[in-house]
Amino acid sequence: MSHVVNITGQRFNRLVALRKTGSKDGGKAVWLFKCDCGFEKDLLARDVRNGKIQSCGCLRKEVVGALSRRHGYSRLDCPEYAVWKRMRQRCNDVNASDYAYYGGRGIKVCERWNDFTLFLSDMGARPTSEHTIERKIIH
Ligand SMILES: [Zn+2]
Repeated sequence: MSHVVNITGQRFNRLVALRKTGSKDGGKAVWLFKCDCGFEKDLLARDVRNGKIQSCGCLRKEVVGALSRRHGYSRLDCPEYAVWKRMRQRCNDVNASDYAYYGGRGIKVCERWNDFTLFLSDMGARPTSEHTIERKIIH
């Protein structure tokens, strides 16, 4: 005799149970849940009921996003950040492999660009990964 808990229409955090869709791992009930974000997902009812799963995954994405913002861009996997960091290295770091061609020749990054957020707002997002940064030579 199987023990079926009817949770149709019940809310668990961001998830509302729609209907039982099957079972797995030896009889654990799988239900279709609708998340507040609109996404529907099959999940183990037990994990949802005990709070192990609280959303379709959007909640986790939001938390990770908020943490990244709080810790600044250095923690982000951001291609523009890598460009900015390399640019500063070759101009400011005497140990950088190409410093001689940049900082060694008196090429400096302007003060404003010491702040990555200002650099990003000036340059905008990198159009493609094929783009590299170049200097404009002003005579
Ligand atoms: Zn969601």
